[in-house]
Amino acid sequence: MYHRVATPPCDPWDIAVSPENFAAHLEVLASLPRVISIGELGDSLRRGHVERSVTLTFDDGYLDNLECAEPLLARHGLPATVFVTTGGLRTGGDTMWWDVVGKALLHQQSLPPSLELGRGESARTWVMPEPCHEDLARWRAEPYGRREKKRPVPDRGRVYLDVYAHLAECEARDRELQIEQLGAWADSVGVETRPGRDERTMTADEVRTLAGRDGMTIGSHTQSHPFLSRVDAGRRREELAGSKRELQEVTGEEVVDFSYPNGDVPTTGAEEVARAGFATACTSRGAAAFPGQSPLAIPRLIVRDWEQERFARWLWQWGHG
Ligand SMILES: [Zn+2]
Repeated sequence: MYHRVATPPCDPWDIAVSPENFAAHLEVLASLPRVISIGELGDSLRRGHVERSVTLTFDDGYLDNLECAEPLLARHGLPATVFVTTGGLRTGGDTMWWDVVGKALLHQQSLPPSLELGRGESARTWVMPEPCHEDLARWRAEPYGRREKKRPVPDRGRVYLDVYAHLAECEARDRELQIEQLGAWADSVGVETRPGRDERTMTADEVRTLAGRDGMTIGSHTQSHPFLSRVDAGRRREELAGSKRELQEVTGEEVVDFSYPNGDVPTTGAEEVARAGFATACTSRGAAAFPGQSPLAIPRLIVRDWEQERFARWLWQWGHG
């Protein structure tokens, strides 16, 4: 499971792999006997017969998947699936909301003394500590997945995690409004939170282009990237069926593969995904898939920004564990 192939200045969730390291991973993958598409994996799981193989997926639908990852995949003839969040298709590409939070809170040394989000009784306020520059730089350089548990998170990092948790709980429309508030707050002190060209998700035209490239499959990652277990059944239906419909209109092909946002699988998730017309669904449970695994709850292993040797060792351990 990959997300971004890029080198953003700030990556608190450790989801970006540099183009150099990604190219090095592909050299290792190209030497394997079986790198298969998600559709082939789904068929194998349904037959109950899975040979040792690797399937590559990308979550969220960032533009760098088209501009950076796909050309490198094509060089090796490796197939991959990109799970697109459809919210940005109509709006000329979206900034994922957590990227706005990161840009607002972690990029700048000096910020207003407090942040208020929401209105009226549900408003929340955070006191904004001035970060020690070294602490913040170190925290950004050692993002989430690799951070040592014992090392203290700097105050500003703690505020970031708390604001993130608060917004993750909000309903989509409410979150949009609060993200706008956050953008205006950051703007008031000259902190830019609008996406740079390489920080947004793909537009409809870009998804269509990617879908036309050999070996690339487009899958759905919902419309608004919600925690699916926290929204009601009607809304879940629309997130699933609506995103499928939108992507089919864009690509002109049937979209039958799905990835659960935030790795959040509702108890009735598999049935709902099947009812919406999907044949496979990927979770973020960190494990390899074995025969008997439901194709509607395929576990995945997240790939970090490792150099070739570390990646190869990690892959070998999973393949032989
Ligand atoms: Zn996602």
